[in-house]
Amino acid sequence: MRPALLNPLFASLASLRGIGTKQTRTFARLLKPDHGSSRDDPRVMDLLWHIPTGILDRRRQPVIADLAASGIVTVDVSVTRHIPSTTPRAPYRVECRDETGTLNLIFFNPPIDYLTKALPVGARRYISGEVSWFSGAPQIVHPDYIVAAEDFAQLPLVEPVYPLTFGLYPKILRKAMAAALAIMPDLPEWQDWHWLKQQGWPGAVSALKSLHAPQCEADLDPENPARARLAYDELLAGQLALALMRRHLKKSAGRVIRGTGRLRQAIIAKLPFELTEAQKDAIDDILRDMEARERMGRLLQGDVGSGKTIVALIALAAAVEAGFQGVLMAPTELLARQHFNTLTPYCGAACIGLEILTGRETGKSRRAIVEKITDGRAQIIIGTHALFQNDVVFADPGLIVIDEQHRFGVHQRLALRNKAAGGADMLVMTATPIPRTLQLTLYGDMDISHLREKPGHRPRIETRILAFSRLDDVVQGLARALDDGARAYWVCPLVMASENSDLTAVEARYAALSRHFPGRVGLLHGRMKGAEKDKVMEMFCQGEITILVATTVVEVGVDVPEATIMVIENAERFGLAQLHQLRGRVGRGLLASSCLLLYQGPLGENARKRLKIMRESDDGFVIAEQDLRLRGAGEILGARQSGMPVFRIADPGRAHASLLAAARNDCGLILARDPELVSERGQALRILLYLFERDEAVRTLTAG
Ligand code: ADP
Ligand code: MG
Repeated sequence: MRPALLNPLFASLASLRGIGTKQTRTFARLLKPDHGSSRDDPRVMDLLWHIPTGILDRRRQPVIADLAASGIVTVDVSVTRHIPSTTPRAPYRVECRDETGTLNLIFFNPPIDYLTKALPVGARRYISGEVSWFSGAPQIVHPDYIVAAEDFAQLPLVEPVYPLTFGLYPKILRKAMAAALAIMPDLPEWQDWHWLKQQGWPGAVSALKSLHAPQCEADLDPENPARARLAYDELLAGQLALALMRRHLKKSAGRVIRGTGRLRQAIIAKLPFELTEAQKDAIDDILRDMEARERMGRLLQGDVGSGKTIVALIALAAAVEAGFQGVLMAPTELLARQHFNTLTPYCGAACIGLEILTGRETGKSRRAIVEKITDGRAQIIIGTHALFQNDVVFADPGLIVIDEQHRFGVHQRLALRNKAAGGADMLVMTATPIPRTLQLTLYGDMDISHLREKPGHRPRIETRILAFSRLDDVVQGLARALDDGARAYWVCPLVMASENSDLTAVEARYAALSRHFPGRVGLLHGRMKGAEKDKVMEMFCQGEITILVATTVVEVGVDVPEATIMVIENAERFGLAQLHQLRGRVGRGLLASSCLLLYQGPLGENARKRLKIMRESDDGFVIAEQDLRLRGAGEILGARQSGMPVFRIADPGRAHASLLAAARNDCGLILARDPELVSERGQALRILLYLFERDEAVRTLTAG
């Protein structure tokens, strides 16, 4: 149970004074916490982790004669007269003076009552806002602050600037932040005080408060003491959580799973190819772990197209040979179906009972499948999140494989592992290579196998970058390729085509391409019904349609070896990891393949670099390292699209890399001295774990 002291921080934002339910929804858009499932109802803590990216400095207080051409100032003036608008379009003007000149305050459609009260003629006022000039005279349009001389203290001379979202005004955000900071409880110190002193770091609460009250640019630096302190807290919480989970996993007795090899032989005999050395090595790692008495926690990392599925199948078959069930979890319905289709002939050949359960199975058929899962007739079970519903009880799962685990996030992964009764072995697979520097923060609790070599003699994918203005050429080129029998994906980002139509970009492109290539184009996006999606995928697999216009639903794992062309529209909007995943949908067979990255200019500096990296490399590891360099870990891991766990404060790939190493050592020392976290510091560390939402890790500890 989370300590009561933290409860106010994990209450809904609506619990804050002055924040209504409607505003909560706007905040939800801004905060988009990615811990576990998405949250429509952000909590106070989600807001507190939203830290400023800039400052507004109102400390400049020139006299009117010294006003510069622009910039934010605070001026001390007397109100001389009000000049109401003469036409509806003209602004309302309030003329002010000091000894050196005249300054106009400009208001469009102002509430007149308010203005006459706030700026009575003859009164002295401090005005703060952005200076501009009109017909040779200085003015401030819609001042940010108007305060009486005696209220000067209320005028914030330095204000934090926060990233905002549509419909959220800075004042509202700052007000909410002030309310959130006001309910921040005192927290016990969980860091070693020698270390704090040596680093010159403040306490956690005062660090958080000072992050929200930057006084100068240097206060925004990730390496400033307040930020570094909290980053270290976060990294330490992460390391502790991983260490505790790992310990728990190792302690919880696994089972010896030693297959006979019979089913595996039947499967291997049916493979149309030889396993690569990399695949064989990975299979050896996995089988060795399964045979061991300890519970397996292994990550299988392999770039897109490296052949992870078959490795998983062999491991699952080994579990079945030993009399257990094997479970394969996929992040999407589409992928679950595809795995089902891939595995069906092999399971048929080996006489393995194969079942699939997703959100789509309902009613009677679902009940029948659940029954087979429970009584053990289902030996290999493929599914989505639907598998983790309460009434799905496995007979005896020996191995759980989670495909494309980056789609699930660390928290879900840990939760899944806890749910797996009886100490099932866990194999997680990912095609998103993790830069070496970050592996430990993410997978410190796992052993890792790599599939470095790609199977077959895969042709390199030729990647070209083209301006969107060349669309006609692209379509003509596509027409020639299709005439030669090619199949193509055309991916569009999820954006509205225009404000007054609800056609999305992908639907518009589908319509346009259908006019060019009647009867040959299919459409695939996330809002379609499952059966419709299947049908389109099936038609594309069979070549009945030859262009598949899609959103990023094709990003993960879709495997159609005959597809050789990937067109990505608005490629500048995608992140590197995603571009690499998308491109990995082609070049999967023997045929030369190409990827066209269409961009809409002008390109920003980073977008240009991203596209260049894509053109120059098709090695997922190289791309991941470059991505880390371009964006920093917080971004990479935090971005929704990658589904990786978010670092709220820490940037372990760049600014806080050395802190990560320190946190790792610290973690080792802490657990050696106080393995159950029962000392005074241990208790405080539990609070730290809850603060960073590592609840599962705390739950592995005995009560105390
Ligand atoms: P990923 O690692 O991206 O999940 P898949 O498991 O989908 O990759 O495999 C990609 C493609 O490579 C599939 O069409 C699969 O049949 C094929 N493949 C897998 N292993 C081999 C191999 N050893 N030799 C040739 N082709 C293989
Ligand atoms: Mg795969």
